Amino acid sequence: MKILKVLIEYSVSSLNTPFSYVCEDDVNVKVGCRVYVPFGHQNIVAYIIEIEQTNLSLTELNQRDNIDYKYVYKVLDEEPILDEELFNLAKHMEKEYVCPLISCLQTILPPSYKPASSGLNKITYKKLKKVILNENTNYTSLKTKQLELIQKIKDNDGVFLKDLPQGPVQTLKKHGYVDIIEEEVIEDYFEDYVIHTSKKKLNEEQQNAVDTVINTDKTVCLLQGVTGSGKTEVYLQLVEHYIKNNQTAIVLVPEISLTPMVIQRFKERFKDIAVLHGSLSAKEKQIQYDKIKNQEVKVVIGARSAVFAPLKNIGIIILDEEQSTSYKQDKSPTYHARDIAIYRAKVFNAKVLLGSATPSFESKARGVKGVYKMVYLRRRANNHDLPPVEIVNMREHVSDFSPLISYPLDYEIKRCLDNKEKIILLQNRRGYSPYVSCRKCGYTFKCAHCELSMSYHKNGDKFKCHYCNNEVKFNHKCPKCDNEDFLFMGSGTQKIEEVIERNYPQAKILRMDNDTTNIKNGHFKILEKFRNEDYNILLGTQMVAKGLDFHDVTLVGVINADNSLSAADFRSAEYTFGLLSQVAGRAGRGEKKGNVIVQTYNPEHYTLQMASRHEYELFYQTDMIFRNKMKYPPFSYMSSITVLCVKADQACILADNIFEHLKNYKDFELLGPALPYLFKENEKIRVKILVKSKNHNLIRDVFNDINKKFAKEAKERKCSVVFDIDTYHLL
Ligand code: ADP
Ligand code: ZN
Repeated sequence: MKILKVLIEYSVSSLNTPFSYVCEDDVNVKVGCRVYVPFGHQNIVAYIIEIEQTNLSLTELNQRDNIDYKYVYKVLDEEPILDEELFNLAKHMEKEYVCPLISCLQTILPPSYKPASSGLNKITYKKLKKVILNENTNYTSLKTKQLELIQKIKDNDGVFLKDLPQGPVQTLKKHGYVDIIEEEVIEDYFEDYVIHTSKKKLNEEQQNAVDTVINTDKTVCLLQGVTGSGKTEVYLQLVEHYIKNNQTAIVLVPEISLTPMVIQRFKERFKDIAVLHGSLSAKEKQIQYDKIKNQEVKVVIGARSAVFAPLKNIGIIILDEEQSTSYKQDKSPTYHARDIAIYRAKVFNAKVLLGSATPSFESKARGVKGVYKMVYLRRRANNHDLPPVEIVNMREHVSDFSPLISYPLDYEIKRCLDNKEKIILLQNRRGYSPYVSCRKCGYTFKCAHCELSMSYHKNGDKFKCHYCNNEVKFNHKCPKCDNEDFLFMGSGTQKIEEVIERNYPQAKILRMDNDTTNIKNGHFKILEKFRNEDYNILLGTQMVAKGLDFHDVTLVGVINADNSLSAADFRSAEYTFGLLSQVAGRAGRGEKKGNVIVQTYNPEHYTLQMASRHEYELFYQTDMIFRNKMKYPPFSYMSSITVLCVKADQACILADNIFEHLKNYKDFELLGPALPYLFKENEKIRVKILVKSKNHNLIRDVFNDINKKFAKEAKERKCSVVFDIDTYHLL
C-alpha cells in the first residue's frame, strides 16, 4: 500500500494543507505527479508532495490513523511535472506572497500542466474555423463594406472566423465568394516575421557592459542605457556567451505585445529558442514548454511568467525594460518577475541583468547603494544625439481646426508627409471616448460590475469596460431621462484617428491598440505594414512607445501628456517620465534626425521639462526628495491587504479588526481601511488597508500570521482576504 499526501486544486487558505489518499503498490506514482482524487461529490486534481510506503492493509491503516482512506481515482502523469528547484521556489513563494502553495504551483506551470481541472480540458489541439477566398470570383457586384472584408481576408491569406463580423461573412459565403475551412492552430507564432540584423561589433561602452556583467561578483546588474544605445545587442552577446559556456538563458520582455521586435531579433540570432507568452493557445504553450523541459532549447524568451521556464543550468536571466509594471502579477501570488529571477539566479549561481533607459526607482536606488552593479550606456549606437523634444503649451498653440492638435504638431506632420518620412503618434487611451455623459441630466455610463466609467467605442457602437471587458451596446438614449444628446468627453485612439483622417486626407494611418491587435499575430501584421508599405502614421497606445526600431521615423508626437501625469498615484511622474523617454526614443534612430513634440496643458511640470531634456538622473533625484518626505517606496516597502465580500458591512468589520491587529506593530505606518477607486469587483465590495514599513520581512511575517489568525473569522463572515506584497496600487 502507498499513502499519497497531496495538495488539492482549490486555492483557498483553509484547504492549504496536505490530504491523504492511498493506492496499491503496483500503481506507478512519483512525487510531483498529478492525480485525480475523490473530494466531496466529485473528482478533482491534486498534486503529490509525499509518498509513504507501508506494509499495512487498508483496514489496518484506517485503524492506525483513524481515517477512512480513499483510493486515488487516476494517476495523470508518468513523470513529475516539476523538478526540485521549481518546487522549492513554489514553497518560497507560498511564504513570500502569503498564498496557498497550490496556487504557486498553478502559477509556475502552463495551462495544460497545471494541477487544476481547468487545465486538463485544454490539452486537445485547437481547431479554428478560417475564412478563405474562393478562387476566380468576380467582385463587381459587391458593396464597399463587403469589398473591405474581401480585402482583409486576402491581405491576411485567410482570417479566423471569430475575428470577422459573422453576418456579412455568412452572406459572402452564401454567394460563393468565400469558403470556411477548419485549421489546427499549432503554428509557430513568429515564423513569418523574422527580420535580419547582423551581429554587430560592440562599441567600447557595450563591450564594457558585457565584461562587467560576466565578471562582477554581484548577482544583479542594472544596465542603464539611453534609448537606441544598443542594449539589445548587449543582451544578445551575453546570451551567446552563456550558451557557449553550456549554460542557458531566460530573456523577459514586457507583455510580448509591447516589444515584438525584440523577440524577432533573438529569434533570428539563436534559431532554436522557446517563446512563451499570453496570447499563445494552451497547446502552443505546451509545445514550447515541452521543448524547454526536454532540454531542446537553451534560450527562452517571454513575458512575465517565462521567469518560471523549467531550464536547467541557468547562466543569466535578463529583464528588458525592467521598469515595466507588467512584471508584477496583480492577482495572488502577487510576485514580481525581478524577485523570482533573483531567487532563481542565486540557486544556479547565475546573473540577473536588468535593462532600461529609465530604471524603476526601486532598482535605481539599489544600484546607487551598490546592492546592484550599475552599468551605463550613455550614447546612442549610431552616435547621434537623442532627439530634441519640444513641449507645446496647448493653452496657447491649439489649432483652430481641432482641440487635439496644436499648430507646431500640425506643421511637423505636414512636413513629414511632404518628405515621405514616417510618424509615430502616442495617445495612451484606446476607444473613442473614455467618458460619455448625458447633456441633459449628467448621467454617465458606468460598468455594472466595477462601477468604473465605460469607454465608448465607435467601432461596434458600444461601451467597453477597460477593467473587466464587460461590453454594452449603446442605444443612444439616456437610461435616466431618455434624452438623446450626449457629451463624448476625453479622447482615445479612435477619436484621434478620426481627427487625423479628417485633417490629413493624404496620410495613410495605422492604429495599434488592444482593439486592432487582438487577432492572431495582430501586432506583427501592423508593424510589418508600417515597415514595408506606404503607411505614414502609426498611431497607438503605449504599444507604439516601446521597443520599436524603425529607422525612417523622424517625428514622434504625444497627443496628450497630461493623462498619465494626473493619475492619483505617487508613481505617476515616474511612469510618465518613462513613457515619454520611451516614445521619444523611437525618433531619429536612422541617419535622419528626429523630432519629438509633446502636447500638454502643464508645460511647466518638472517631469515634462526634465523628460524633454533627457535628464533622468536629475528627475530621479528630484522625485526621490518627494518620495523620501512621504516615506513612499523605495524609502519603504508598501503592501496591501484587501477584504472582499458581497456584503459591505461584513467586509468593513473584518477590515477594521485586521487594522486593529496591525496597530500592534510600531514599525508599520498604516493607511485605511478605505474603499479604493475600484471599490467593487465581480459584485464584491473591496476594503483596503495599506501598510508601509522599512522592514520587508516583518510585513511578510505579519501577513502570514494574519492569514492564519483571521481565517476562521473570514470564513464566518463570508469574506476573502487578499494580500498584495509590494503593491503597485495605492488606491
Ligand atoms: P536599445 O535597445 O538600447 O534601445 P537597440 O539595441 O535597439 O537599442 O539598438 C539601436 C540600434 O543600434 C539598432 O538598430 C541596432 O542594430 C544598432 N546597434 C546596436 N549596437 C550597435 C553597434 N555596436 N554597432 C552598430 N550598430 C549598433
Ligand atoms: Zn467592469
